[in-house]
Amino acid sequence: MRKASYLYNCMIRYAYTIRVACLTAAALIFCVLTTVQVHANDGAGLLWLVNTDHPLCEGFEPRTLVDVGNHRMDGKVADAYEKLTAAMQAEKAEAGDQTLYLYSAYRSYGRQKDLFAERIRHYITQGYSRKEARERAAQSVQPPGASEHQTGLALDVSSTGALNQAFGETPAGEWLAANAHRFGFIIRYPQSKTHTTNIIYEPWHLRYVGTPHAEIMHARDLALEEYADFLAAHTPFIFQNAAGEFQSVTICDKLPDEWPPDAINISATHYGQGARYIVTYTITTHTQIFTFP
Ligand SMILES: [Zn+2]
Repeated sequence: MRKASYLYNCMIRYAYTIRVACLTAAALIFCVLTTVQVHANDGAGLLWLVNTDHPLCEGFEPRTLVDVGNHRMDGKVADAYEKLTAAMQAEKAEAGDQTLYLYSAYRSYGRQKDLFAERIRHYITQGYSRKEARERAAQSVQPPGASEHQTGLALDVSSTGALNQAFGETPAGEWLAANAHRFGFIIRYPQSKTHTTNIIYEPWHLRYVGTPHAEIMHARDLALEEYADFLAAHTPFIFQNAAGEFQSVTICDKLPDEWPPDAINISATHYGQGARYIVTYTITTHTQIFTFP
């Protein structure tokens, strides 16, 4: 299963545009061709789950990377991060010193391999066997392919001069935890979810998943690992966003042939290993019931 999903990762590296023929429910007279953009990030998708159980392959490099200073990141992340930092500045009166420094963004498979090998060498020079050194290295550095920095959707930021847990206690760290979701980011490894993510508390590690997903995960206190099960149990999940719009979020194995006639802004993104979709649309009434296949 793991091998199959690993191969799947390697295979789907292209953006998808799915054209769906949509028949109006009223009379089947008008046939409207609706274009649904699947947010693909070159196959990774904004909700791609990457961890030691779901690593990316060596050849995976997103084609959506842009340069931001000395770093590279997905273009959507760059736009969202700019909005986030501007908002921090504007709300500075409330939160004190909020100057964020960007430490890390996209990290290639090769770079992860070097960092991991460096750490193993460090433990070997301390007298550990190669096997022990590898096990110790894995406690603090993700093995190659297991870092979601390879998607271009993750950022490490801090205002304390270092990436440390103390950052979470600063005004900037607290502001991020309370507001990052407004811009599509989640604190990917929160203190309360270490048992789920199997990663230590990292208040500095932001992951872009887009809205409304970041807003829902924030409101419902969900880690990315928990999001699919939550949606499966609450499908369709109707969410009122900060702008007051009602949005329907559904997880499904297959995109439907027809869409609700009053749905607008339909979008879909792969979840996890790409076998499922998460479909989002804005609805004009929140009373409708729409069943996905
Ligand atoms: Zn990170």
